[in-house]
Amino acid sequence: MTEYTTLGLYIDGRFITSGAGRKSEPVFDPATDEVLAELPHATSAELDEAVSAAERAFPAWRAKSALERSDIMRRAAGLLRDRMDHLCRVMTLEQGKPLAESRGEWVHACEILEWCAEEGRRVYGRIVPSRMPGLDHLVLSEPVGPAAVFTPWNFPALTPARKLAAGLAAGCPVILKASEETPGSAVEIVRALHEAGLPAGCAQLVFGVPSEVSEQLILAPAIRKVSFTGSTQVGRHLMKLAAEGPKRTTMELGGNGPVIVFSDADYDRTIKTLAAGKFRNAGQVCVSPARFFVHESLIDRFTQDLAAHAAGISVGSGLAADSVMGPLANGRRVEAMERFIADAEDRGGTIRAGGKRTGNAGNFFQPTVVTGLGGDALLFSEECFGPIMPIAPFSTVDEAIEKANSVAAGLAGYAFTTSLDTAQTAMHRIRTGMVGLNTLTISTPETPFGGVGESGHGSEGGMEGLQAYLDTKLVSLA
Ligand code: NAD
Repeated sequence: MTEYTTLGLYIDGRFITSGAGRKSEPVFDPATDEVLAELPHATSAELDEAVSAAERAFPAWRAKSALERSDIMRRAAGLLRDRMDHLCRVMTLEQGKPLAESRGEWVHACEILEWCAEEGRRVYGRIVPSRMPGLDHLVLSEPVGPAAVFTPWNFPALTPARKLAAGLAAGCPVILKASEETPGSAVEIVRALHEAGLPAGCAQLVFGVPSEVSEQLILAPAIRKVSFTGSTQVGRHLMKLAAEGPKRTTMELGGNGPVIVFSDADYDRTIKTLAAGKFRNAGQVCVSPARFFVHESLIDRFTQDLAAHAAGISVGSGLAADSVMGPLANGRRVEAMERFIADAEDRGGTIRAGGKRTGNAGNFFQPTVVTGLGGDALLFSEECFGPIMPIAPFSTVDEAIEKANSVAAGLAGYAFTTSLDTAQTAMHRIRTGMVGLNTLTISTPETPFGGVGESGHGSEGGMEGLQAYLDTKLVSLA
């Protein structure tokens, strides 16, 4: 299919697009179920080759000035910006999100590359006053070494960009295993880095059976850092492998974001913000507003308004100009939505909008609103990762906070209120790595992004994102 892209591996500065007898897998368009292309898998020998290439590339890449590294990354971002229309189609074809969302994601990915390129120039050390005459203490930051990073299918450009940009800016070679379900966007990023003059071995891209690739890469002695975005279950497994090193880890393991709408919220602004945010990327967002707790004085009006909004959303191919929500990224998500709805119905919940798979082909599911469920319902206990909005009432601030904190995940939490006191209470007591007060905007290149509890540890984004690829070294000099 000419409008998609040529898929391949990128190892030691070379693209490998095919090979006799090589294993491969089809990549599907989630809007039509059609095969877009075949994705080659890396052999075990090629994975070893990638590790060796990263090891060889490390001394020269860390020795480059931050300015030289920055120039290459900026150039790559420029090439991506030049190709924007093509990139948006690639992402929409492989992942399903509407073209406008693909554009937003690609712009964000470019901004991350540019921001990290600049931040790499500000990796400062410090001098600590010593307690003895004639003794100096210097604190230095040094790149941790070759990194193996793993990214999922919901943000095919943003998540690879976060890990590649922070690692490269810190002076680390990065081997990326992007999702086999949405590989084209990652291919486009490494292609731009290659054309921008990135030396061989500094960024590499591999695909295969995820459990086999991750085990081989993480256990390779030369790999010093592991970064993963995906489910808590897989994150636990990868942490065990990394513990063998032991190796530094960053784990971004999904959330189950609470949203508290207090009685004094600016109603119109809150509805507008949540209506736009909930169904973005068909709800397949780790920081998605997921569990809605609405003050009892507002809940009837709130439910009616959101249900009307959900019912009016135009669902269709992400390539169609009038689609507001595309398909889910894969068939597993549709099955998962059906499981959430069946559980809700078994427990006496009321479907206020949607609730069903839709369309004759592809992975489409209706934007859905559900009420009448208790905290033990799947929708309030497990991450739904889809376009379903469960709404429950609360009466006191303490009750709302308790409900918000009732799950082990702790990525992003949100509260809507016009009271400074209530905002402060929410800010301090919601147990998540990120809190949005009267906003869902919590992910930018310059701010840290990460969770607590079962949502993992470590931050991507902001100066913290670079620190994750840096070791601290103390030098005492007499
Ligand atoms: P999954 O847990 O099998 O896969 C999640 C991601 O991890 C995929 O990209 C997959 O390729 C990768 N993966 C799986 N096993 C791996 C391994 N052993 N080594 C390395 N990578 C591995 O399930 P799924 O069906 O793709 O998604 C299910 C759930 O995962 C979702 O419901 C959601 O909760 C979570 N998820 C979270 C994010 C996020 O942004 N945090 C993204 C995608 C999925």
